[in-house]
Amino acid sequence: MTIIRPELAWIGGDFLDGVEVHIEHGHIASVVPTQEPPTHEGMALIPGFVNAHSHAFQLALRGRGEVFPTDAESFWTWREAMYDLVESLSPDDVGEIAWRCFMEMRGVGITSVGEFHYLHHADPAARDFAMDAAVLEAAHMAGIRITLLQAAYVHGGFGEPLAGGQMRFDTKDYFTWEDSVDAARRAGVDDKQSVGAVIHSLRAVDIEHAKSIRAYARDNGLVVHAHLEEQVAEIEACVAATGKRPMQLVNEHLEPGPDMTMVHCTHTAAEDMSLYGAAGGRVCLCPMTEANLGDGLADVQAMLGSGADVCLGTDSNARISMLEEMRMAELGQRLRVQRRGVCLDADGRVDRPLMDMATVHGAASLGLHAGAIMPGTVADLALVDLDCAWLASVDQSDLGAALVLSGSDDLIMDSCVGGAWLSDLCEEAI
Ligand SMILES: [Zn+2]
Repeated sequence: MTIIRPELAWIGGDFLDGVEVHIEHGHIASVVPTQEPPTHEGMALIPGFVNAHSHAFQLALRGRGEVFPTDAESFWTWREAMYDLVESLSPDDVGEIAWRCFMEMRGVGITSVGEFHYLHHADPAARDFAMDAAVLEAAHMAGIRITLLQAAYVHGGFGEPLAGGQMRFDTKDYFTWEDSVDAARRAGVDDKQSVGAVIHSLRAVDIEHAKSIRAYARDNGLVVHAHLEEQVAEIEACVAATGKRPMQLVNEHLEPGPDMTMVHCTHTAAEDMSLYGAAGGRVCLCPMTEANLGDGLADVQAMLGSGADVCLGTDSNARISMLEEMRMAELGQRLRVQRRGVCLDADGRVDRPLMDMATVHGAASLGLHAGAIMPGTVADLALVDLDCAWLASVDQSDLGAALVLSGSDDLIMDSCVGGAWLSDLCEEAI
């Protein structure tokens, strides 16, 4: 058994002192009060962050899509740059990029990632799914917990065939996708790997196909994720093709529930969100990516008001920081509604709801028993440096808000997954 006595620990939405955490077999066995001196003086223990939406390979796009020779640059032209990258990558490239991406996540306290995986093939003609194993191996090497969110992708847009780089995403039909999910479930190389079901989007997967994926997820106890309503043009194309908005189709055909996460919902109509949230559906926001791509600002008040639990993802990985994702989630809303304090709990606090987005709600979205310092959860944790100069004047009761609204990733000293510390992993590598 490993014992951790931090100076402070984030438990139940507050930083508490006098806490001892017992770790056994990769799980938190117990959390008990103590009078003993800390084993980790000057450090606070927090649950490891859960990154519910990532495309690891897009790390290699950093800086590439940030020159704007015309005034027509948008999400869709960025997507063309992404397709150019996609066509150039081998499984070794993808494995190496994913490993760097996951190591960077570990370094900023992210201990679980939902890897929304649609770059499947090295040889599109063979539909070899060679990238799937490369991503799982990269996660294993980085020691990060991963839910491989295995995406179905069959159309280039509503009624359009796949073209160019999109051929590497091709899952052909429901049965090809199902076989790939079964293969990924068998391929998990350690006990920190699981698989989820994914409808890439309703422009890439038609609704009948999506219904089959939803049924598979339910029958096999997997979570189901999809991109939804990130762009106005996507909603307009869906209405033109089907007569309905994407979220209307989800509500009418895909049986929303707590095992379902719709990613973005930037332009979702309030009445659609109301139905979706009432049914228990979840939303994943990716505030930094949505800002980078000029998507727009979602109505987070409407999401929270609907009862939908919100989690967070680093998505394009142009920047990897859950502290900054939390901050952007709140500050973007302040700009949107011209008021301070939007992601609030009943006590008027923002730090608890934002930390929940980055931990427990992300874990629930990925079907993981993680994201909290409590008995029975996996021992996925991070250490925060309390001795740095700029936290010197912060009261213990204000520390959560200071961390979320002012904290830098330099504060994250180490992270552990299943009790295995990043610092030990790096030492072994040397
Ligand atoms: Zn995405």
